[in-house]
Amino acid sequence: MSTVLDRFLRYVSVDTQSQDGVTDRFPSTDRQKDLGRILVQELKDLELTGVSMDENGYVTAWLPANLPPQQAAAVPVVGFLAHLDTSPEVSGAGVTPVVHRRYAGGDLVLPGDPGQVLRPEENPELQRHIGDDIVTSDGTTLLGADNKAGIAEIMTMLSLLVDRPEIPHGRLAVGFTPDEEVGNGTKYFDVAGFGAAVAYTVDGGRVGCIEYENFNAYTAVITIEGVGVHPGYGKGKLVNAMKIAAFILKSLDADPAPETTEGREGFIHPFAVTGGAVHLEMKLLLRDFEMEGITVQKERIQRAADSAVKRYPGAEVRVTFSESYLNMKQRLAAQPEIVEYAIEAARRAGVTPERGIIRGGTDGARLSFAGLPTPNIFTGGNNFHSKLEWIAVQGMEATVRTLVELVKIWADPRISGRNGSDSSGLDR
Ligand SMILES: [Zn+2]
Repeated sequence: MSTVLDRFLRYVSVDTQSQDGVTDRFPSTDRQKDLGRILVQELKDLELTGVSMDENGYVTAWLPANLPPQQAAAVPVVGFLAHLDTSPEVSGAGVTPVVHRRYAGGDLVLPGDPGQVLRPEENPELQRHIGDDIVTSDGTTLLGADNKAGIAEIMTMLSLLVDRPEIPHGRLAVGFTPDEEVGNGTKYFDVAGFGAAVAYTVDGGRVGCIEYENFNAYTAVITIEGVGVHPGYGKGKLVNAMKIAAFILKSLDADPAPETTEGREGFIHPFAVTGGAVHLEMKLLLRDFEMEGITVQKERIQRAADSAVKRYPGAEVRVTFSESYLNMKQRLAAQPEIVEYAIEAARRAGVTPERGIIRGGTDGARLSFAGLPTPNIFTGGNNFHSKLEWIAVQGMEATVRTLVELVKIWADPRISGRNGSDSSGLDR
């Protein structure tokens, strides 16, 4: 049987980097399908059903329940998802993984580039992995634990369940998706066809961290029309859109910003401007875990625009807001057991669970609002999107154990509360 490390090393050797800004094809790079084809073959070898990769690069498969039919019918179909692609930020071609056996503490120098050093001061998480086997790249590329660790962990769980039919499980759905890193992971995903009632992305970070909250995200577009006159003859007539933009930005300057916030704090982030003195358009991100926070941010921006119009007579300032994504917590609140089972599974796997928040969006958030509630489970990986990406083999094994325990909890007839009741039915 292939271990989680064997699988991981096999998958990171395939370059699956996605590409930003591609609009004329999907997925953004063909090479993601190279890994998709390998996974299709491996899923067929495990004798899963319905194994396929569609023209968009989505790999799906199902593991039938091994419970008596009547019991199986009462267990919801649970989905597991991970993404095929790696970040466009750092090369994922020719990854040479290095396994640092029995990490003894101290600095880990990556052999391909002595400038790339993992230091415990900058990576406190390393302390939790003394004695473990740490996998890194050679320092010249990213590693690809994001998200090939998740793929390896899901595949290892499946192979374990296939090999050990005495472990009870309901019907499982498995999906490996392209283009997550460029924000399109769920674009053509067939939620109905997947047929899961709940799902988990296995795309998180440090061991034990389960995430089910992300930002509410809006974009503001401020359009400014100044008054264009020949500057030599502009007295009393010319109104400069750039100065209005500066005025608006200045009045928002005291507001929380990405550079001044962390944890649960939201922010406003001006990020793009086009135009000039006569016509100008600028865009701002609004981010907050609570909708009330978004409302306050909208009011602040509107107020800044209104006072700009007063300060610069003759100008026109329009503000429009559009929703990008929402906090999945709003969707998961009705079924707290989805998260509670994951927390309990981690505990049963010998892992100390912790609840994390995502200061961004996730595929799981989009799926949750498309009707498939999908929190995010840890992979054990660290320093995603960088040449200093690392993961402990023992961390991957802890994730596999957690996934197996999770499947068992969902299949356990003693656990009630599957219909959205308050009690998750877990013995604690
Ligand atoms: Zn990821």
